Formats: sequence, structure tokens, C-alpha cells
Amino acid sequence: MKNDARIQLFSNCFFFLLLTILFLTTFLTINSCHAQNDSLLVSYLKHGKLTITVVYDNYQINKDLATAWGFGCVVKTPAKTILFDTGGNSSILLSNMQKLGIEPQEIDKVVISHIHSDHIGGLNGFLQKNHDVEVFIPSSFPKIVKDGIISNGAEYTDVKNPREVTYCVCTTGEMGFWIREQSLIINSEKGMVIITGCAHPGIVNIVKKAKQILKGKNVYLVLGGFHLHGKSDKELRDIIQSFRKLGVEKVAPSHCSGDRCRKLFEQEYQQGFIASGVGKVFNL
Ligand SMILES: [Zn+2]
Ligand SMILES: [Zn+2]
Repeated sequence: MKNDARIQLFSNCFFFLLLTILFLTTFLTINSCHAQNDSLLVSYLKHGKLTITVVYDNYQINKDLATAWGFGCVVKTPAKTILFDTGGNSSILLSNMQKLGIEPQEIDKVVISHIHSDHIGGLNGFLQKNHDVEVFIPSSFPKIVKDGIISNGAEYTDVKNPREVTYCVCTTGEMGFWIREQSLIINSEKGMVIITGCAHPGIVNIVKKAKQILKGKNVYLVLGGFHLHGKSDKELRDIIQSFRKLGVEKVAPSHCSGDRCRKLFEQEYQQGFIASGVGKVFNL
């Protein structure tokens, strides 16, 4: 009887310990995105440069670069450099990066938003140039993609829930039903910068999710593919109003956003609209 009680007590303690570890891991992972409140980090970011360079897009800003359907950008933080999406073709990706003076070896981490070939198509060719990277992929990706990353000599991390990618950069975690997608959130001094690949889970849902993750933080900029081509003016205006209500300060829709979407956002946002496309550099 005494032994049973002891075993019960031990298993209760073990269960409690396990729960505490789980809670702390989740809390610390998400909380590290809030780390900007830490004065050490504020000074760290002030002295370092934070830039986002669009290296792959069907819209063009820099005439020396090739355009192609897809999206990819390089986020340089004082800590690590991240490639978010790889476009559809590695030759175009690598050639644009070279013209922009970005070496494949500079990249520490790769984040793939979703499974569509215009976002993941350049991954294999990129890994052949630099496999010394950690690739963050939605956990729903099929085994063939995961095996491909491993066979190139790189490592992958399954992403299900919001988590840190590097200091001040986190992912929304997998969102959506049919096409599971993750977006990137940068906790910059000016506020949140949200980068979307195709925004299949809905651009407004993604902004709302980012605001849930970094509670109390303003949304400085949303950029990338908004997936709004073919939408009616009424639908587009509703989305633009939702952006206003969510307090989004600046927008830079490109890739699959559609010309009409860009036009209407520009009319509404004026100075807060940033024309984006391949070659665009955002200094934060
Ligand atoms: Zn897509
Ligand atoms: Zn796309």
C-alpha cells in the first residue's frame, strides 16, 4: 500500500515536471520574439543593420535583375541572415542574389512558406551551393521534401506552432487548411514587419495571428504575396479597411497580390504604400 502511494506520488511529480518543462519551452520560445523590450537587445539592434532584400519576384524594381513568377527575400539581422522562400528556379534566384552582392554562404537559415513550386522550387539548387543551413518547413510537408533537404546535407526543422527562427524573428506557425503556410514576423524597432509568401490562409488572418503572437506590438509593415488577384473591388476595399482597423502602417504587396490590389492599396495608403518587387531593399 505504502509502495503504491510512493509510486503514485512519484508519477504525479514526474507529470508535473514534464508539464512545467513543456510550458517553459513554449513560453521561452515565443517570448524570445518579445525580447526587444530587453534593453540589451534594443542597443544591439540599434548598432546592427536590419534589411530585407527581395531577391525573387514577378514584379521588378531593379532592372538588372530577372523577374519570374514566385517570391523570395533575404532578411539580414545583426545575428543571422535568413532566406525566406526560394522562388521557382534556383538559377534565377542565385543569379539575382549574386547581382545584389549576396553570397549563398551568407545565409544561415532558410524558411519555406508553403509547398507551391514558385516558393520552394529554388531550394534544391540553393542547398547545392550552401547546405550549412537550418531549413524551417511547415510540418505538413511530405517526406520527399524532408528527405531532399537531408540528402543535400542540410538540416530541417518542422514548424507547427509559432516559434523563434532567430533573435527577433519568428514564424506564425502553420496556418490554413488546404494549403498550410507559415509567414515571418520581424520584431523591429519600428514595429512588426510581416512577410508573406502567398498568404493562402488569408492576409488579414495572418496579420491578426501576428498581433496575437506579439501582443501590444504595432504593425509597421506587411510585405510579400497577398494572394488577391482576381478579387472584386468591394472585396479588396474590405481587406484594405481591415488593414486600417488592425493599424497596419505601411504595405508592400507584390508577387500574387495582383495589379488592382496594388492600385487600390496605393490610393488608400499613399505614402504608406511601398512599390515592391525584385531588387527592393527595405532598411529597418
Ligand atoms: Zn501558393
Ligand atoms: Zn506564390
